[in-house]
Amino acid sequence: MPELPEVETVARGLRQAILGRRILSVTLGKTDFIDDPAALEQHLPGRQIEAVERYGKFMLLRLSALNEETCAATNGDAAPAALLVHLGMTGQIAPRPAGQPLEKHTHVCLLLDDGRELRYTDARRFGRIAYLTKALLAEELTGFGADPLEVNQQEFADRICGRRARIKALLLDQSVLRGVGNIYADESLWRARIHPARLGGQLNKKQAETLRRVLQDILRKAIVLRGSSISDFLDAEGEPGEYQRHHRAYGREGKNCYRCKTPIRRAIVAGRSSYFCPRCQPSPRGFSALPLPGKNGRKTERRDAERAKKVRGRNQKTR
Ligand SMILES: [Zn+2]
Repeated sequence: MPELPEVETVARGLRQAILGRRILSVTLGKTDFIDDPAALEQHLPGRQIEAVERYGKFMLLRLSALNEETCAATNGDAAPAALLVHLGMTGQIAPRPAGQPLEKHTHVCLLLDDGRELRYTDARRFGRIAYLTKALLAEELTGFGADPLEVNQQEFADRICGRRARIKALLLDQSVLRGVGNIYADESLWRARIHPARLGGQLNKKQAETLRRVLQDILRKAIVLRGSSISDFLDAEGEPGEYQRHHRAYGREGKNCYRCKTPIRRAIVAGRSSYFCPRCQPSPRGFSALPLPGKNGRKTERRDAERAKKVRGRNQKTR
């Protein structure tokens, strides 16, 4: 699922491509992922796209008020409004020349005043599109946590430390931070050397601050590289991102840790596959990773256990 860097990448692309354009008409295909399809058809035509914003993992296209003439014709609400676009797993949104044949799974076409169409395609339809009035938008935005790129040291510590939940669950919780998903949670925990199953309350202020800094650093770098293309993420120009080449933990089960060469392990934390280095990110007591797959799995596991025993022995001596 696209996370903050991927959505930011798409939002930036759209900002370049469609800002100031007016929507002339709306054509819909399958609508089971649209909140109120009739509202789109009724309220979008005549409105200008005034801003494209990212909020957590979704985008908001800010739409102008309607002039009285158009409003009378559509018999609707004239006040400024917004179009929420959540890409789900496989959603893509990009402008195309109106004459160009429709790509497979195109479900929303907004004809623009420059002869292009803003098209939304989504093979699995786990995305969401909603026309939101000011009141609906305010309701929609309540309950979200801080933007991870903007959150300061104190606020981050307040949101993480002292919590009973696992740190991975806290990072994924959109009411704690908005925009972080599985990839960037695992990457930042690896960089900060914190095991995903540690409890928020077990982290001290210094660890929380390290985590905040590396998370911001990773997200910024991922935005520069236009996100990670895992399944089929493409930006607004149809280009894949490049940050997946910089992944250090996510999806690397059985591959050597870039720091210590210990094979990266996988465990289910907060209901999600979580990747970590068992050596750099010591696990909480009693927590075990999933066995490594493949023919060398058992051997590696035995070697890991022996190595861990040695390290524990050393630590006990030095204590
Ligand atoms: Zn390591």
